Parts: sequence; structure tokens; C-alpha cells
Amino acid sequence: MDVVLLGTGCPIPDPTRAGPATLVRAAGRALLVDCGRGVLMRLAAAGVMPPALDHVLLTHLHSDHVTDFNDVVTMRWAMSPVPNPVPLVGPPGTGEFARRTLKMLTADTAWRIAHHADLHWEPACDVLEVLDGIAVEQDGLRVSAAPTDHRPVAPTVGYRIEAEGKVVAIAGDTVPCEGLDRLCAGADVYVQTVVRTDLIRAIPAPRLQDVLDYHSSCEQAGQTAARAGVRMLVLTHPVPPPAPGSEADWIAQAAEHFDGEIIFAADLATVTA
Ligand SMILES: [Zn+2]
Ligand SMILES: [Zn+2]
Repeated sequence: MDVVLLGTGCPIPDPTRAGPATLVRAAGRALLVDCGRGVLMRLAAAGVMPPALDHVLLTHLHSDHVTDFNDVVTMRWAMSPVPNPVPLVGPPGTGEFARRTLKMLTADTAWRIAHHADLHWEPACDVLEVLDGIAVEQDGLRVSAAPTDHRPVAPTVGYRIEAEGKVVAIAGDTVPCEGLDRLCAGADVYVQTVVRTDLIRAIPAPRLQDVLDYHSSCEQAGQTAARAGVRMLVLTHPVPPPAPGSEADWIAQAAEHFDGEIIFAADLATVTA
């Protein structure tokens, strides 16, 4: 199972990091987790076009994780020769979010249908809302969700993807919690969005201080990884955007608590479970 770190940024624009998005190739399937800024550019670089996605999974509806969902919907529709709804999984509220997105696209939808004789159906999403339990189980692939803790953003979920005898946990934005521990138990790869407590505390901006209370710090990611007995920890979505050459500092904070392999994510890097 391969995990392609498509976009490793956070809400703050960064010239080298697209928004949060991860591609998991498992059991011959292509799973996209979250749809942050620039997701289709990074997906194209990974060799995947939107009609070929087998599952689109959302961890939560924070703008940085879904801002390019409309692009996924539009291009899957416009590039597919036959109706091909987006197979969408997300926490409760995802169905309403999908409906609003389709409504936002109404004018574009009408223009393209009017212009293309062979395009006579509207874009659509097949939505499955999950909070705790199995989201996908087919042909050697199992995807399960568990609730995470990113309050006041709620509900939020992470995903545990099992295939080929391997386990990948994609946590999304969360502080350590019971659901996260279940997702990560014994995982080969655990991908966690992180913040640097020391750097943020040194920046006197109240709105930045607020992000500390609902994300995992590097230390907490290391603690979760150790408690769950994972093999590899991937730190992604770093806040604040890291200075060039500072990767080792982020890794060192997690390594105080976890002695397995730690990767500091870069866009389009691939790790293998
Ligand atoms: Zn985020
Ligand atoms: Zn978030």
C-alpha cells in the first residue's frame, strides 16, 4: 500500500505546499483523503485523473481540507464519458456540504450541458456519512472511520485503511483521543497533521495561538504513535509553515516520545506501508 502525500500544507498559503490531501493506493484502488488547495494539480502529478478515483474521503469540513472539492466534482463530471458520481465518504454533514457545492456549481453545470451535446447529466455525489465504523469493505480493502477531537469543529473523523496485510491511518486534524488511538493501533503508517507549540507560542498573534488547542503537537503525535505501536509516523500540515532546513527540529520533538521511523512530509513524497 502506497501513501502519496499530495498536499502537505495548512491554511496559510505556502508556495511549496498544496493544501491537505493524501492519495492512498490500496488493493488496486485509488483513495483520495481530503481535497485541499491544488489537489487536482498534485493528483495529476501522481498520475491520477479525477474520473479514476475509487473513493473520496473527507476528514472534516474545515475549508483548508475541502476548498478544492468543487474542482474534484466538476472535473470528474466533465471528464467522464458516462455518469460517474463522486463516491464520497465523510462525517455527518458531508451530504449537506455536497448538496451546497453542487448548488454553487449550478451556472457552470448548465453552461457545460448546453455546450456539449454528449453531456446531458448533472454532476452528482454518492454520499456515505460515517462517524464510527466501516465505510468501505470490498475486494480486500477495508476503510473504517473513528471520531476524532478537533472541537469546536465537529463531527470530525480519521480513517484506518487496511489492505494487502497492511494498515494506514490518516488522522486529519485532531488532538490525541480514544478514537485516534483505535485508528492507529498497530498501523504501519500513521499520518498526523501537526503544529509546533514552541514556535506558535513565540508569535504574538491571538488567532494563531487559538490553533494550539485543537491540533496535535509534534510531541503529542509522537506519544500517540508510541502508544499505538505504529511503525512509521508521518508529520504533515505543519503550522506554522516551516523554515527551509528546519525539518529535523520537527522530527526531533516527535522523536522524544517515539523511537520508530519519522518522516516530515513534503508534497508528492510517497511512503510505502
Ligand atoms: Zn487543517
Ligand atoms: Zn481542521
